[in-house]
Amino acid sequence: MRKPLVAGNWKMNGTKASLNELKLLGDAYSAGLRAKVDVMVAPPATLIFVAAAGAVGTGIIIGGQDCHAKVSGAHTGDLSAAMLFDSGAKAVIVGHSERRTDHAETDADVKAKAEAALAQGLTAIVCVGETRAQREAGKALSVVAKQVKASVPDGASADEVVIAYEPVWAIGTGLTPTIADIAEVHAEIRKVIARKLGKEASAKMRILYGGSVKPENAKEILALEDVDGALVGGASLKAADFLKIIEAA
Ligand code: PEP
Repeated sequence: MRKPLVAGNWKMNGTKASLNELKLLGDAYSAGLRAKVDVMVAPPATLIFVAAAGAVGTGIIIGGQDCHAKVSGAHTGDLSAAMLFDSGAKAVIVGHSERRTDHAETDADVKAKAEAALAQGLTAIVCVGETRAQREAGKALSVVAKQVKASVPDGASADEVVIAYEPVWAIGTGLTPTIADIAEVHAEIRKVIARKLGKEASAKMRILYGGSVKPENAKEILALEDVDGALVGGASLKAADFLKIIEAA
């Protein structure tokens, strides 16, 4: 059985005042829920240290939104996986489509970042997903398969890596693929992982869906056999909404 993971990506949103949402979430994330669903929040880097300290004892995992592939060096503005770990993060999102687009990150870059995360003992949440043009051209499955093959570290285990399928056109738009389309892509990702990492890793690896998940659609999406949780952007900013998605999982 794969324990679902509901992960919130705050992106470039949040100041110290937003930590109150984390406090509300921690208070509501009861022992009963904890036993059934893992929860992660990736606040902006400025809040990781204090968020991680505040999350102690709540069961909430604090994660980063990106990391550099190197441990240290002359890379102004960047953060290494070692720094995230040092700040209390236990996981990091890599290859989010906004990073792939805004910072021209390639699959090779994403793989190097994921490897850096694993080397520091962080769980890597590796994001993949097709653009609208790629889906309309009937290439969604092949694009995602190629990204998974090239972005996930070789030899990784199911404890180290989580995959997030996030169609680029669904992120922040309110649009979602059909339930059948989500199921089809998730099944394809599991097949690709089986070929790359073996059947056991594939059976155990969590594959999240991301892209306009909200309380209203979470239940239907999260009920799919190969959907093992969600990566949530906008709806993770308010504890009350995020909690409804956690409960749906
Ligand atoms: C995301 O950025 O990972 C995401 C899924 O955003 P949203 O939920 O806002 O579509």
